Amino acid sequence: MGLNSPVPETAVDATLDRRYLLERVGDAAVVQVYADGFRDLSLRDKTLIWHLSRAAIAGRDIFYDQRYRHNLEMRDLLEAILVSAQTSPDFDVATLAEIARFTKLFWINTGPYNNLTARKFVLSCTPDAFAAAAHAAERNGAQFPLRAGETVDELLARLQPMLFDASFEPFVTNKTPANGQDLLEASANNLYVGVSMKDLEGFAERYPLNSRLVKQDGRLVEEVYRVGGRYDRPIAAIIEHLRAAIPYATAATADALRALIRFYTTGETIDRDAYDVAWVQDKDSTVDTINGFVEVYLDARSMKGAWEALVFYVNAEKTSQIRTIAANAQWFEDRMPWDPKYRKEGVRGITANAIDIVVETGESGPITPVGINLPNDQGIRERYGSKSVSLSNVNEAYDRSTLPEFRQEFSWSIEEFERAMRWTSFAGELTTNMHEVIGHGSGKVAERLNGNPQAALKEQFSAIEESRADLVALYFVADPKLAELGLLAAEDQADIVRAEYESYARNALVQLRRVREGTTIEEDHMRNRQMIVRWLMAHTRAIDVRTRDGKTYYVMTDAAAFREGVGRLLAEVQRIKGEGDYDAARGLFDEYGVHFDPALRDEIVARVDRLHLPSYTGFVMPRLEAVRDETGAIADVEISYPCDLAAQMLEYSSITRTLR
Ligand SMILES: [Zn+2]
Repeated sequence: MGLNSPVPETAVDATLDRRYLLERVGDAAVVQVYADGFRDLSLRDKTLIWHLSRAAIAGRDIFYDQRYRHNLEMRDLLEAILVSAQTSPDFDVATLAEIARFTKLFWINTGPYNNLTARKFVLSCTPDAFAAAAHAAERNGAQFPLRAGETVDELLARLQPMLFDASFEPFVTNKTPANGQDLLEASANNLYVGVSMKDLEGFAERYPLNSRLVKQDGRLVEEVYRVGGRYDRPIAAIIEHLRAAIPYATAATADALRALIRFYTTGETIDRDAYDVAWVQDKDSTVDTINGFVEVYLDARSMKGAWEALVFYVNAEKTSQIRTIAANAQWFEDRMPWDPKYRKEGVRGITANAIDIVVETGESGPITPVGINLPNDQGIRERYGSKSVSLSNVNEAYDRSTLPEFRQEFSWSIEEFERAMRWTSFAGELTTNMHEVIGHGSGKVAERLNGNPQAALKEQFSAIEESRADLVALYFVADPKLAELGLLAAEDQADIVRAEYESYARNALVQLRRVREGTTIEEDHMRNRQMIVRWLMAHTRAIDVRTRDGKTYYVMTDAAAFREGVGRLLAEVQRIKGEGDYDAARGLFDEYGVHFDPALRDEIVARVDRLHLPSYTGFVMPRLEAVRDETGAIADVEISYPCDLAAQMLEYSSITRTLR
């Protein structure tokens, strides 16, 4: 599973004069990510990456459509106006600025729903001003996504609720709807059409991960994502690029790509299993890709996979830490602070790499995870192991683009702030690696769950699994074994642990800035982090709530008590996963993870806004260009850095527009 959105809080390094932070849009930051090692790759690896990148871009609109059924039309409309305005003076400046602001957030979040809060955001100009801009674009020859016989005004009227009304389809995913509303009906995503949870009772899906469920004439139909099925054209384009990549791949990667093509062709679960196995067994290749229907956060039921693609290469320098953790996975497994019956024996095949991403699309871009551990299929993990990656160049870009004020504002003391400056980045990378490798990679579940705790834990599953992985990292970061393994220096460990626990406690406060409306947390990683801190506050004396000058602080005062509480909570969280105890999971998050005090949130938002600090980050990817010789063969692949979100998004859109 992906680990999203770390607390971005490291100092700007002035020694590098290249640009990381490109611009601020609303409460988002836009940051360029760099892939310095690309130039040193062999031509064969570069060519492989070129074709895999084409496959990644080819599927981008699948995720747009999955996230919201109106997304592509909305994007076409917005982009038509912005492109037209580049060559015409015929636009009102203020309206155009607002359309640009909204469109940038739309690109970053893949549609009009905030990636973290799941809530809708809208245009703040008037519909009339927007219509005037659309007509100016029309006069300038812009092409709009018109239906047969439709006028531009009719199109605008049809899309008006999506663009201007925040109360129309307000949540993309709603795992805790109010007033007993149905989970699926309260979620605006396009994974279900006319389907409620009640309809699903007694219905067995044949394609649980890769289909849209539609109620037609009173019965449920699975629209399968595959060749000849839903998303036929983009999937066919993906396959074409994957085929072109195979001659440049290692034998193991080629096997995995062929298995992926087969899965995209048939859509059958048995072929998805075969692909997962082939992908996990491709351990030593320099270049790798994730391409398909993977994570289940978008689905309130945690069943349907959202499309994503990443293309990356191993960052050899940074890989040694994560490899050391993986090589010792059994040592950690044997000491997990949970009932021994949930401990895996013969932990195998955790392949761990630090990687640099070259492109991320779909659910992984422009907002990216910092670590990934796949496959998600519990049965395959138990039999074949998993692959874990830490996204080094994304972490680097976070580090270089954010400001020290962030830590300062929420640190109780100068000592805490200095500890954070010295250690939080180091501790963050270490705990991210532990989260992925010995967190998600660990533990086993009761036989009767058939390797599928998702089915029992439903909408609670993702948050439980993320909690488990975080708790494993928090628990073992304080273990003397880490110094023995050379992962940190023994004399620094107490400071590193303290800095990590302090930062984790602070984050429960600071993350509230991301939920500017309402009083509930929707995103699973945020729920898990809120739950852990609030549980520790209720059950240990590790964290003090203090106020000074009207400002609230979560102050970590006792690292030993913190760790002891983490161990206790981890035992319970593993039991919940191991037994599929839905009621306990729901109780835990309901009590500690979902609800918060809006007055406290308002205070945090005011503090953050005063410092002009961003809530989340969208990344601009490197750009590749194939250089061909006179025979048309690829002679080199050049990498460059656009440092321009709009230019990159418009380029991607121009590539995929013909694939719908
Ligand atoms: Zn995770």
